[in-house]
Amino acid sequence: MFTIKGKTTDWEVVIGLETHIEVLSKSKLFSGASADYNPSVSPNTQVSMVDVAMPGMLPVLNEYCVEQAIRMGLGLNAEISRRSRFARKQYFYPDLPQGYQISQPAEEPPIVGRGWVEIIGDDGQHKKILIERAHLEQDAGKLKHDVHPTKSFADYNRTGVALLEIVTYLDTKNPDNNSYITSPDEAERYLREIREIARALGVSKANMEEGSMRADVNVSVRPVGDKNFRTRTETKNMVSFKFIKNAIEYEARRQIEIYENGGKVSQDTMRYNQSEGTTSVMRSKEDALDYRYFPDPDLLPLEISEETIEKIRKTLPELPAATRERFIKMGLNEYDAARLTETTDISKWFDAAVDGKTERAKPIANWMISELFAHPENWDIKNAVDASEQGTARIITPENLAELVDMISASEINGKQAKEIFIKMLDGEQGTPKEIADRFGMKQITDTGAIEKAVDEIIAANPSQVEQYKSGKTGLLGFFVGGVMKATSGKANPAVVNEMIRKKLA
Ligand code: ADP
Ligand code: MG
Repeated sequence: MFTIKGKTTDWEVVIGLETHIEVLSKSKLFSGASADYNPSVSPNTQVSMVDVAMPGMLPVLNEYCVEQAIRMGLGLNAEISRRSRFARKQYFYPDLPQGYQISQPAEEPPIVGRGWVEIIGDDGQHKKILIERAHLEQDAGKLKHDVHPTKSFADYNRTGVALLEIVTYLDTKNPDNNSYITSPDEAERYLREIREIARALGVSKANMEEGSMRADVNVSVRPVGDKNFRTRTETKNMVSFKFIKNAIEYEARRQIEIYENGGKVSQDTMRYNQSEGTTSVMRSKEDALDYRYFPDPDLLPLEISEETIEKIRKTLPELPAATRERFIKMGLNEYDAARLTETTDISKWFDAAVDGKTERAKPIANWMISELFAHPENWDIKNAVDASEQGTARIITPENLAELVDMISASEINGKQAKEIFIKMLDGEQGTPKEIADRFGMKQITDTGAIEKAVDEIIAANPSQVEQYKSGKTGLLGFFVGGVMKATSGKANPAVVNEMIRKKLA
């Protein structure tokens, strides 16, 4: 359990995340303007009359965005509401000309209801993180304050693009239900899981660096063992895993200090200051009441038929949790399975290398986790997959690793030689592992005659070690094996060498 030591007691942390993912769609949630606002697009070129709230313009709900929300809801194992509504959430914001955001009412079931996401908890066990709801809403535009010394500019390209806000659930009535996030690491694992589900489903790019995934982070603390939840703060608009983890820890320590000095935490909305790694109060918390939500009179209630839900359910691809389970059935342990499903690109790469041959699964996993992951600088899995798909670049492909692993299990090369071939490939050596092995004369000696000759020589040359071994110093086995490996330039099959020395000295 993640705890923070205080002056008189240990504290635990309670975390709730509100994650916004931007819905992948050609057009915006309520208008036909393009939803692709990437930075190369000139400002204010993808804006319709609806987006800038020209008088008399009416929003029209984009059916595809609704389907995307349903798809994500199913990926979150959630109930899909057969009927939900859109509401106006009033506030003034210069990059949202309507003067309100069209969202879904806080007090009504939104399009996606209760669900859950599975992560690996800090104790290494599976943990369900409960989802309270996910609702569709409009994104705002962007203000630019750094273009001109005295003027600010507004770019409305992003205004009205569909967002899906996914909110984690805290069961305040049942404090023994611990299906919520309780550490910075779990927060990161949860967000990564959301990201991979969204990507696998094609619902969102869910890319924090590009802003297509952002999170509001709710944090409270309580003494370990205390059942009551205390007041939380909400840190807005976080866009990096690292900052989120820092902010949680900083905010938890700040609250602990307040309690330990006899104070009370107030329910504030915070901002995170990246350069200092601190949080500070932005405004005191506003209630749903302050926004004066009311059903948008321009939009009909959203009704979704059972058939529509079932039709979409049938098109869902395999999601990370199912992939993990499949990998475990192939013989991997929980840890391997978790590492190899960190991103869909990694699991695709692994699947391509195993290529249905289950006996390869464990060795491929070992190579990927201990070698491939250790070389991010010359081995970006994403590029490797792309490159092998395009048939370009000298990069280690799934086929290359599969061939290497097969050569070891066929005793054509030993582990040491495999490692050498691997390093040569990383260094840019062209050709398949087989070709490289041939080129450098790396062939394992499995011919027992040749091995026996080397074994006999090493035994004859070291009578005193033989004496010691026979009188019980069996640790010297390695000395003899090493000698034989050296004599054969590392080409002998170590298993055969071991076996033979043991027999001869028995
Ligand atoms: P709001 O509507 O004010 O944003 P919600 O009730 O929807 O608030 O909660 C927002 C998030 O804060 C949810 O993920 C919820 O689980 C979380 N949360 C609520 N109470 C606490 C608390 N005491 N400590 C930590 N997180 C909390
Ligand atoms: Mg909120």
